[in-house]
Amino acid sequence: MIIGDYHTHTAFCDGENSPEEMLLSAIDKGLEYYGFSSHSHLAYDESWNMSHDSQKQYVAEVMSLKDKYKDRIRVLLGTEFDLLSDNDLTPFDYIIGSCHSLLMDGEYISVDHSEAVFVDCCNRFYGGDAYAFADHYYKMMAKAADFDEITFYGHFDLVNKFNAGGKFFDETDPRYTTSMYKTLEALTKTGKPFELNTQHTFRHNPQEASKSARLWLSALYELGGRVVINSDAHTAQRIGYNFDRAFSFLKECGFKSFLVLTEKGFEEVSL
Ligand SMILES: [Zn+2]
Ligand SMILES: [Zn+2]
Repeated sequence: MIIGDYHTHTAFCDGENSPEEMLLSAIDKGLEYYGFSSHSHLAYDESWNMSHDSQKQYVAEVMSLKDKYKDRIRVLLGTEFDLLSDNDLTPFDYIIGSCHSLLMDGEYISVDHSEAVFVDCCNRFYGGDAYAFADHYYKMMAKAADFDEITFYGHFDLVNKFNAGGKFFDETDPRYTTSMYKTLEALTKTGKPFELNTQHTFRHNPQEASKSARLWLSALYELGGRVVINSDAHTAQRIGYNFDRAFSFLKECGFKSFLVLTEKGFEEVSL
């Protein structure tokens, strides 16, 4: 049973469906809570995120849907905040802290745009050393700890999105895991949860990402960290994507429960 899904996108950013189409699908799937989390503004590439103006329209539209469907589902207004964004964070019920971009010598580096862009950035900024790219990514992700506004951390290991078959780096190599674990520890100390992003873990690069997720989620469990399950759906059909697998995956990593976000904050649910 899926109680809530809080990492979802609409046509206000890079999703395919309107907010109402997404919400109707969530109602159809029997969710109790649904969170909208359109991408926050990034000045260097506005093609996949909200402008300052469209954020205002997004907030107004979600608030009106919240009211329209209040008898059928609980709507939470969120945003997926990129650590390099410059948008107003005051209107939101919750904020996902994610890192999609890095900055070096005044130039922006995309982590997850496409494999071709990943390779190009790796060559131009890190001399072809993907371990250096991953290290920079985890150092940037660690900065999420500085943002009090963040509610939970999004796709913690996004840097492995294109690493199918370990073609760019070995995710068990200390050159990769050292900075990953350091950031994991630093973020866990804030007490904020991490998400298990089902699309990133089970769809984009299922074998490698699951291997990596098993490492950091098991470590997170040992550190006493907590987890929220989200789909990162960009289409109505993918809301709640592979949550059943997430439940068993979390149990295999040691977890006995996960978190659901409500209007009053997080509530623990047994697995
Ligand atoms: Zn993201
Ligand atoms: Zn997302």
